Formats: sequence, structure tokens, C-alpha cells
Amino acid sequence: MEKFYVTTAIDYVNGAPHLGHALEKIQADVIARYQRMFGEKDVYFLTGTDEHGIKIVQSAEEAGRKVEDFVDLNVEKFKKLCADLNISYSDFIRTSDKKRHWPVARSIWKKMEEEGDIYKSKYKGFYCVGCEAFITEKDLINGKCPYHESLEPELIEEENYFFKLSKYAAEIRKKIETDELLILPEARKNEVLEILKDVKDISCSRPAEKVCNWGVPVPGDESQIMYVWIEALTNYLQPKDFWPADTHVIGKDILRFHAVVWPAMLLSVGLELPKKIFAHGFVLSGGKRMSKSSGNVIDPFELIEEYGADALRYYLLREITPTEDGDLTKEKFKKVYNANLANGLGNLVSRVMKMAEQFDGFAIEEPSWIGIEAYLDKMELNKAMDYIWERISQSDLYIQEEQPFKIIKEDKEKARAILWNLISALNQIAFLLGPFMPDTSEKILNVIKDNKMPESLFPRKD
Ligand SMILES: [Zn+2]
Repeated sequence: MEKFYVTTAIDYVNGAPHLGHALEKIQADVIARYQRMFGEKDVYFLTGTDEHGIKIVQSAEEAGRKVEDFVDLNVEKFKKLCADLNISYSDFIRTSDKKRHWPVARSIWKKMEEEGDIYKSKYKGFYCVGCEAFITEKDLINGKCPYHESLEPELIEEENYFFKLSKYAAEIRKKIETDELLILPEARKNEVLEILKDVKDISCSRPAEKVCNWGVPVPGDESQIMYVWIEALTNYLQPKDFWPADTHVIGKDILRFHAVVWPAMLLSVGLELPKKIFAHGFVLSGGKRMSKSSGNVIDPFELIEEYGADALRYYLLREITPTEDGDLTKEKFKKVYNANLANGLGNLVSRVMKMAEQFDGFAIEEPSWIGIEAYLDKMELNKAMDYIWERISQSDLYIQEEQPFKIIKEDKEKARAILWNLISALNQIAFLLGPFMPDTSEKILNVIKDNKMPESLFPRKD
């Protein structure tokens, strides 16, 4: 069986999961489910948590907890998010896992060192604790990190190890230009190619005392801790026999690590590069990034509680263009839910099944994947959803035109023929929904099989 390996980024557990995490997990889950169902592939889907770095130590302190307890607590929330959203992951890796993650991280370091790609030097420059990243002066906008305008970048001067990133820039550039390493969307690819024009070696460790000893020690030098990104990226090598990854699903803000640093590490140790890196945008609310200070934070758990997992999956997959920043407010969520799920899909299912159950069943044809493959290959998940909803509209229109609800009283055989068409269309819709809204898909396929009117799939919300 052909193998397929998809990952999310591993989530940084300095707080509870937010909608951006939900978006990424759902996108990766669609790919995993689609490859299992359509591709009939042996799919490995890895997700997990990134638990080191000084930001975690600081957040634990603020929360008044031991750092080990602090990460354990937050990891449970991320696992719960996966469970609540029906995320079909194969494995959940934690970078604090000394048995599974640490040996991989340290062996990669040793190989890079053997290749002569690691050397000791002095680092003087800025560090953004928000990004857990060394940043150059030219990355700063008005003296601040573009992703963390409220944080003051720290000026640090320390001795640590460097990784010869510059050595691999030309080779990575070539692989990205030729799409051997495909970066989606195109705009992000160009961004990476621009970065690759001028790449310097990077610090790849921090003095242990500067990070409160929280992290993976550098092999052979316990006074240094592996830089959190260098160590965290190796999580992707966790499953045996699945490398190279077919798709890394990540946020646009960590593209540089995945499309520049990670490929360089892989080239250094002689491993293949991932085939595709897909970078999604942010989920905004009211046009702004969600933050406690803006008071616009929307908790994914609350939405799931009120509307169900598939409603949130629907919104994040269709109402948000995967490659762009999208917007979600509670008002908009309710409006979209009522229009497209309570009406739209939910209404169609109950109308059709209410008529259908007056007959003793319909022998319908096997559904197919026709219509959405191209969208999925390009990660145009919203367009695949649009396609499915067009079919829903077509069925609504067909009911309006053919009026089976009237004909059923006059001409049963004619009504049966109309309903056969409707049930076939509905079966196809439910089938295509499989990777996107797995629970809903299964429910509809079952009511068709049982030829029975369902409980309301998506009750209207006032
Ligand atoms: Zn930052």
C-alpha cells in the first residue's frame, strides 16, 4: 500500500489552544482522511506539542506552577481539542518525551556535528521570546518583531553553537524553485525564495542557565541546551518508515523554520526533504488578531459545545480561504451556521428523507470522488466545500422545480423517480463530505441506508 505522511506543526503549549490551532488540525485532518478514503493509502498523521523554550518557563512562572506540571496541563487541552474536533491523528508526540523525542533530536544534532555543520561562536543580536527566535535587525519593524508588537525584543550576547545554514541555501533554493519542495501558496514560495537570497548561519543552542535548563541538552556539552526550533523540528522524524513527509501543514508565521532551517538540517544529515509545505493564514476576529487585550478571543471549545464539531469544521474549512487570513465572529458564525447548515444541508436532508421514508427504499449507485480531487491537491479546501454546497443548491432547486411533495400525493411512481435522483445526489454529497465533516457524512449515509428521516442534524439557533 502506498504511504502518505501528513503533519501539523507541533503546538506551543504556553497557553490553551485557540482557533488557529483548530484550523490547522482540521486542515491536516481533511488531507489525512481524504488520502485514506480516496487515495486508499497507508496514512500516518502526526501532531503533537512543542514544550521547550524560555517562553514556556516564563508562562509557567506566571501561572505559579512547576514547568512540568504546566506543560502537562496544557497538553491535555490540546489533546482534548483533537478529540472534540474528531482529529484522526496516528500519533501525538511531545517534545518533553525523553524516551521518544530526545534521542531523535540528539542523534540529528550529532550527525550535523559530524558533517562539520556545527561550530561554537559568539552570538550578539536580538531574540524574540514570542517567536522563540533569533531575529536580525532587518526583521524588526519599528524595533519590534512583526508578530509580537507588544514584546520588546531582547538584545542578547552569549556564546553558543551555530549551524551552517548558509552552506545549504543555494541547494534549497533550487529545490524550491523547481517545486521539488513545493511551497503553497505561491506567494509564500516567493517569500521563502527571497529569504534564501541572503541566509546567514544561525545559533542553534542557548546556554543552559539562560533557559533554566528547560530543553534538550546538546550532546557532549550539557552546559548548552539545543535551540528549541532545531530540536522541535526533528519531531517529524518520529514515525519510522514514513519519511519524507508528503505534507507539512503549518502557519505562515513559522514558514522560515520549515522551508529554510528544516530543509538545511535534513540536507546536512543526508535525509530527503518533505514534498510539500502548506502555509495557512491566521484566524482573525473583527479584522484583528484575537488577544485578551482586544477582548475578541473566541474559544474553540465554546463553539464546539454550542454548535458541534462539524459546524466548526465547516466554518474553518469553507468560510476561511486556507491561504489567507480569515475572520470569525460569534455573530458571523451563527449567521453562517443557520444559512448553510440548519438551512442548506440540514434542511435538504430532512426534506428529502421525509418524502423518501414513505417508500420502501432506493437502490442507488456508488458515489465517487469526481469534482473535488484537483482542489484537494492544491489545498483549496474552501473551493472543494463550495463545490459540495453547489450540489446542495442544485438539489434544492430540483425540488422547487419538480415539486415532489405535491406529486407524491398524485403519482407515486413519478415521485419515486424524482426521489431516486434526490437520494442519489444526497448520497454523493454525504460521501464527499467524508473528509470535511466526518460525523455528518456518516449520519447522512446512515439515514439513506435506513431510509429514515433523521433527527435534526443542525438545529436552528436564534
Ligand atoms: Zn516574535
